[in-house]
Amino acid sequence: MLYEIGAPPAERSSPIVVVESLVKRFGSFAALNDINLTVAKGEKIVLCGPSGSGKSTLIRCINHIEKHDGGRIVIDGIELTDRMADINSVRCEVGMVFQSFNLFPHLSVVENCMLAPMKVRGLSRPEAHDRAIGLLRKVRIHDQANKYPAHLSGGQQQRVAIARALCMQPKIMLFDEPTSALDPEMVKEVLETMVELAREGMTMVCVTHEMGFAREVADRVVFMDRGSIVEEGDPDTFFSAPRTERAKSFLSQIV
Ligand code: ADP
Ligand code: MG
Repeated sequence: MLYEIGAPPAERSSPIVVVESLVKRFGSFAALNDINLTVAKGEKIVLCGPSGSGKSTLIRCINHIEKHDGGRIVIDGIELTDRMADINSVRCEVGMVFQSFNLFPHLSVVENCMLAPMKVRGLSRPEAHDRAIGLLRKVRIHDQANKYPAHLSGGQQQRVAIARALCMQPKIMLFDEPTSALDPEMVKEVLETMVELAREGMTMVCVTHEMGFAREVADRVVFMDRGSIVEEGDPDTFFSAPRTERAKSFLSQIV
């Protein structure tokens, strides 16, 4: 499959995310060490690297689930600080999809999608419902709208999680290994949803080892090891001719 991805170049100029000299420590351990990363509007970045290299921590810092200890993170012009007003306004702009879906088990699929737009964006119930159904339709799961998460397959739950994030109309979507908890037959349906989102021009940072997805969608692959960005490049170059020994060794293990 070959797709034409993303927005035209002119729209890609303004960065949605700027990460500068980012440091994150857990006690004396530096999980992130001098990370620099800029994500342009409409850009799709695939973040990969060995387990423990800091991928989730980076994604979590960008979403301010973790506080950073040094450096700067600027989301759509707003620097992440400890001020709650900033955190909340930034969180609205950043959609997050986790490995473990994290749907609210006591809410139906459609209610899962309606909650944040009503509470945070101030939509009325009917407005939130319409938007939720529209996005559930987009991920082809609107026929399950009144079920509870436990009654859906993993792939269906993950598509609901994507729809739920989209209901906030985020400027960027962050994915942290969205397919690694899924049975193999369900990986495809989730990746297809993500490819579709990419085609529509969404700005995306995806932690994934799905190389087919990376080759099809990524503008840039960023490879991390031990808390640092070690190498980055376009997917064809990165996968076929990695420059560093660490990337070579990592790729030899996942292929
Ligand atoms: P990845 O997602 O690349 O597998 P993580 O970002 O989850 O890596 O973790 C990076 C490093 O930070 C690992 O060594 C991990 O053990 C450590 N780490 C992550 N979260 C915490 C935490 N809450 N407390 C202490 N150490 C943590
Ligand atoms: Mg992780």
